[in-house]
Amino acid sequence: MKTIYSKQEGVKMNSDLDFGGTKDIQNQFQYLMDTLETPLNEEFKYFYRVTDDNFIQLAYSYNESELTIIAQYRLRFQNLKENINFIVNNNIEAKCPYNGYPTFENSSVFTKQEFEAIITTLKNSNKAITDKAFEHTTPFINFLKENNLHPFPSGDFYTNWNARCPSGRSHFITISTEKDEWGCGYCRREGKQAELEKWLLEIKEAS
Ligand SMILES: [Zn+2]
Repeated sequence: MKTIYSKQEGVKMNSDLDFGGTKDIQNQFQYLMDTLETPLNEEFKYFYRVTDDNFIQLAYSYNESELTIIAQYRLRFQNLKENINFIVNNNIEAKCPYNGYPTFENSSVFTKQEFEAIITTLKNSNKAITDKAFEHTTPFINFLKENNLHPFPSGDFYTNWNARCPSGRSHFITISTEKDEWGCGYCRREGKQAELEKWLLEIKEAS
């Protein structure tokens, strides 16, 4: 009997959701797709599991790690592919402000065209915000570009941007162009352009 650990629904972005471990159920997951994600284009492998209590789960493995359940929803559609489509969409939408959009590598369920259509639809849905962000580009955004940190609008509000973290690790820094401030929750650094310049200099001197 394949059953779920909790009846929560959503994409796990923090400790609010707990879908349980996968140690004893690893073999109940089926291969779904390979994608490239994060600013470093790291390979993620995705798997899904449909339970006897009518839930669908999405799990991923990164660097051969044990599967982590990232999302879970009740089955909403008759057709399995529509349920997979739904959970994949929600996962990408929840993570894109932090991870950017994934790139298709391989899938047992989606064709490359189908996967790219999902991404295009998600991108179009926040195109208005993205366009406004580009219209309101600030000198700080140009500074980030000049330093190869590849800033891009996060798409949730026109003053919110992301860029590569200067640490070179696989996460983004967040930027608000309202006061041209930035922060990295992982590296516990924040400030304005002066603080970033200082950090870039530290990194350069250390290398
Ligand atoms: Zn960082």
